[in-house]
Amino acid sequence: MRIVFAGAAQEVTGSCFYVEAGGSRFLVDCGLFQGSRLAEEKNELAFPFDASRVDFVILTHAHLDHCGRLPLLAKRGFHGAVYCTEPTVQLADIVLTDAAGLIADEAERDGTDPLWSEEDLERLRPLFKPLKYHQRTKVGKVEFELYDAGHILGSSFVQIQAEGKSLVFSGDLGNPPVPLLQTTEAIPPADWVIMESTYGNRRHEDWHLRKQRLGQAIKASVSQGGTLLIPTFAIERTQEVLHDINEIVHSGALPYIPIFLDSPMAIRATEVYRDFTDYYNATAVKQLATDEDLFSFPGLSQTMSSAQSKAINTVPPPKIIMAGSGMMQGGRILHHLKQYVDEPKCTLLIVGFLVETSIGRQLLDGARHVRIYGKEYPVRCKVQAIGAYSGHADQPKLLSWIGGLPHPPKGIFIAHGEKQSALDLAQSIRSQTGFTAKIPALFEEVILE
Ligand code: ZN
Repeated sequence: MRIVFAGAAQEVTGSCFYVEAGGSRFLVDCGLFQGSRLAEEKNELAFPFDASRVDFVILTHAHLDHCGRLPLLAKRGFHGAVYCTEPTVQLADIVLTDAAGLIADEAERDGTDPLWSEEDLERLRPLFKPLKYHQRTKVGKVEFELYDAGHILGSSFVQIQAEGKSLVFSGDLGNPPVPLLQTTEAIPPADWVIMESTYGNRRHEDWHLRKQRLGQAIKASVSQGGTLLIPTFAIERTQEVLHDINEIVHSGALPYIPIFLDSPMAIRATEVYRDFTDYYNATAVKQLATDEDLFSFPGLSQTMSSAQSKAINTVPPPKIIMAGSGMMQGGRILHHLKQYVDEPKCTLLIVGFLVETSIGRQLLDGARHVRIYGKEYPVRCKVQAIGAYSGHADQPKLLSWIGGLPHPPKGIFIAHGEKQSALDLAQSIRSQTGFTAKIPALFEEVILE
């Protein structure tokens, strides 16, 4: 059995693992490398395998850093099946359709060829094959089963069995308890584990504080008559924040305030969340009995068109604007940021992960000036983060998940984390469980005996 780490090695994006086992060649995820550009130049590198000879792909979830190179794979000759849950099929379509437009814009701006186009996405669409959690699937001599990762709607980790060995790929692990999703399932037996380490060296704020801190940020912004900007991760963070604002509004704790969901992708993703209530946890199902729409409340406007988006600027504060992209490498959030970044009454509220090179991370790290679309702006707005909204398990949760292995594995590979984060998690795994943990480099190849 052979694995090549074709992405997310000592970094958080570009998840892609190539496996040869039981006479099959397959991938777990095929995500986009993201940084200051939506599609980093690294994406142009040749795959360390022949795309036309890959038999199938297992897709853990719909985030772009896990699915964003699938159209490129199809462009380079892949024509096998892509196995994932039904919500992942729907959400990946939304994410990839949005990315097609952004990648085309980015290429035009830079005078380069786009990484992949709408045409390549068309090639990919018929290849998706939905599976349910725990529906054991056999392709050739490889068997696999999806487990609920509790990270976004339909997200999974996967156990694969071939050549008498078992492998678990963690995908991205969730940060339970969250308002809508089930909790992350326990890890099944595995000889080898490939696990994420996004927050491998961090401890999140207590989840009880999520709604409370969101309510405080909104109230502070309203009382000073300012604009609250929330960069939205279109999937999961948006729905959790809408769910919590819905509760805050229904509790009567807020005056009427205009709230804009200014992200066509987030608006579409929220529709998918409305459709798949059977993936919700028991508390959310119970809430549906008294409130049939958990993502809608007085004051909320969904702005699909760019004319509607631009008109938001004419609405006097106080107001709340949720806009994409969540990592702030592009999208409507940057247009709003240009407008408000030098206003002391404006607050930028970060509710998710930001890669090192993103504008959001610069702001969070205290930058006094930022460049937005080539122009420099002074930073006078407030910048706050609510860590408890993170969709990723923190170090204690990662350790508790891996510590749930019924038998010591032969080895663990730490992926999907910036270097320090991966190092700290590997060290903690060694000291707390005694398991062996390594941090592979990009394109490193490992033979599993
Ligand atoms: Zn993810």
